[in-house]
Amino acid sequence: MAKNILSKDNAKFIILIVIIAAGILISFQFGLKDNFSIEKIRNLIQSAGAWGPLLYMLTYGFTSIIMFPASLLSTASGAVWGPYLGTFYTVIGATISSSIPFLIARLLGRNVAEKMLKKTNKIDICDRFAGNNGFVAVLVMRLIPIFPWDVVNYGSGLCGIRFRDYILATLIGIIPGSFTYNLFGSSIEQPGWTKFIFVAVLVAFMVAISRIYKKFSKKGKYDYDIIIMGGGSAGLVAAKLANGLGKKVALIEKRKLGGDCTWFGCVPSKTLIKSANIAHQASRLQEFGLKPDSAVKLNTENVMAHVRSVVQADADGHPPESFQAEGIDVLFGAPKFLDGHRINLGEKEIASAKFIICTGSHPFIPAIEGVDRIPYLTNETIFDLEKLPQSMIVLGGGPIGSEMCCAMNRLGVKVTVVEKAGHILSREEDEFASRLMDSLKAEGIEFLTETEVIKLAQQDGQIVATVRDTQGRSSQISAESILIAVGRRPNLEGIELEKAGVEFDPGGIKVDRFLRTSARNIYAAGDVVPPYLFTHIAEYEAIIACTNACLPIERKANYEHVLWCTYTDPELARAGLTEQQARERYGDNVRIYRWEHKDVDRAKTDLATNGISKFVCDRKGKLLGIHIMGYGAAELMHEAQLVKSLGLSFKKVASVIHAYPSYSDSVRQPAKRCYIDILQNNFFIKLFNKIAPNKGKRRNYQT
Ligand SMILES: Cc1cc2nc3c(=O)[nH]c(=O)nc-3n(C[C@H](O)[C@H](O)[C@H](O)COP(=O)(O)OP(=O)(O)OC[C@H]3O[C@@H](n4cnc5c(N)ncnc54)[C@H](O)[C@@H]3O)c2cc1C
Repeated sequence: MAKNILSKDNAKFIILIVIIAAGILISFQFGLKDNFSIEKIRNLIQSAGAWGPLLYMLTYGFTSIIMFPASLLSTASGAVWGPYLGTFYTVIGATISSSIPFLIARLLGRNVAEKMLKKTNKIDICDRFAGNNGFVAVLVMRLIPIFPWDVVNYGSGLCGIRFRDYILATLIGIIPGSFTYNLFGSSIEQPGWTKFIFVAVLVAFMVAISRIYKKFSKKGKYDYDIIIMGGGSAGLVAAKLANGLGKKVALIEKRKLGGDCTWFGCVPSKTLIKSANIAHQASRLQEFGLKPDSAVKLNTENVMAHVRSVVQADADGHPPESFQAEGIDVLFGAPKFLDGHRINLGEKEIASAKFIICTGSHPFIPAIEGVDRIPYLTNETIFDLEKLPQSMIVLGGGPIGSEMCCAMNRLGVKVTVVEKAGHILSREEDEFASRLMDSLKAEGIEFLTETEVIKLAQQDGQIVATVRDTQGRSSQISAESILIAVGRRPNLEGIELEKAGVEFDPGGIKVDRFLRTSARNIYAAGDVVPPYLFTHIAEYEAIIACTNACLPIERKANYEHVLWCTYTDPELARAGLTEQQARERYGDNVRIYRWEHKDVDRAKTDLATNGISKFVCDRKGKLLGIHIMGYGAAELMHEAQLVKSLGLSFKKVASVIHAYPSYSDSVRQPAKRCYIDILQNNFFIKLFNKIAPNKGKRRNYQT
């Protein structure tokens, strides 16, 4: 520990701090600003005669180490030599002298700054920014006088800006400012208003130059600043953001704006699930003490029409015209890259500086014998059904298969799920997924686990599936329809990514942490970027990709706090590590806090006690994993997710007043356990218990 603190790098860093602190101290202690007026500096330089310029530059060099306002020196030189020669001496003197604090910071502080940034995972971002944009960054900071001279000098040395870029950008960037100060200095003897005219003319001139530069710099090169391919969850967000950042944007969509989520995914599936859950509640009337006069018999004829009407209402919320009205060009068709900057869209050739590929995914159809000879359903066709089938085989027990089997069963369809793994939802905690499967089984769904479909055929209007279990035993099952839900594949066909130099594999487009593809000006977001295929992640990635594409500062995608929910009933939500993953990573330092929803009063009143919450923490109570199965799990999740994302201890939830009765007891109660557990492990409490052992017996609050 001591060795660490006294390392060579740390010692150097301390020297740097001492130099800066001494500089500030000298500046304030000796009242440099007050004692050295423009008048005094002018007299000093003039008294040096022919040595004046040298003395001036040496003074600049010295004052760049201490915190002395460079503006005074620049103004004084104008007063001595006039605006042109004065600017010349100032630019040379200031550029050379600014290298001194830069080099001091680079030699003494860079290593420690690097270590600190590494700890916060910001080093890549800083170095990439400094490497790619160092020249522009320094130039902008020199041109805009709100960035303090000394902070830029030392700060540039601490981050990885190349010395060459720094010096060149300083040399160019300080010319307008130096000229302004020198102009001001040269007119110091003249009436007050003349100098303001000088300055105003100069500012107007600079603004005009930047406007002209902006107008003509890229004109004619590209049709758009950025083209977004795919108008789904990711694409819509990216297009709006890029437009908001002042870019000229085109959004190209192959089919209809809205993507999977609106047309074939989240919206129709959740609408169908809601209808199914209402049907289920209707079947439970008597459990709630309500006796219907006659048997409740539901007709599901209109359910799919209802689903489609909700989907349409959702799609109506973002019509192409609303994007056009905001200034985004919405184009329909299938674009093909011609090279890294040009695409072909129908007959048209369009060029763009940047691209974001957000073309989403489609259902994967496994190569099962006979699959191409049967009418199967996928998420893209199931919501078009006019009438629900009597029976259905659901191939795949992932999130889509599980949600659909639960909904269809509650709407009166006889469902059989075939799943290769030992239970459904293999990404979830084993215990939770098995318990959910048992609950669905109890409702009447049949599960064939550790089983594969090896052949499909159609006979007498029925789909016949030959299945084989892990012991090699084969049998046949049949149903009126089959839903294939065994995974997703990225929509990359026909885009001709190779021509743009974008690398990909069957899983999706390869991107770095900045969501940049192997082509520097092309980014990707959403389902085309594995592994998290969710709407909220598509939107998150779209924001990252878009800001990285549009702004000079780069942000990394951080997947540490990814969460998701499967909308079965009960719902199953998860964020972070499973218990097993946490134990593999943190060993005995893992703490588990569980709470059965049968012990939640609100769940009791609602007869919704089928649920469990489990929080995986480290020994200080930091949340590593959140797992909630139960009514409203997707909503309940967010309290713990907030605590996890902010890096707070789970015990904090216990100190927040919650409404009673509410389902959030399933989060608050285990948080209380965490609080007590941490308290019991507190050194002073342990000591107290040792001294006064009879004051209370220790109980283990982990479960
Ligand atoms: C049944 C189901 C239920 C789901 N439920 C949920 C849920 O509850 N919560 C959740 O978070 N996620 C859910 N998802 C996942 C979610 O739908 C996707 O993760 C999300 O839509 C991905 O957004 P995206 O923008 O990447 O792709 P999409 O939204 O699919 O958008 C891609 C767009 O690109 C277009 N396109 C394709 N190829 C081209 C091309 N060559 N040129 C131009 N345009 C092209 C497509 O037509 C589409 O409009 C569900 C998915 C399914 C299938």
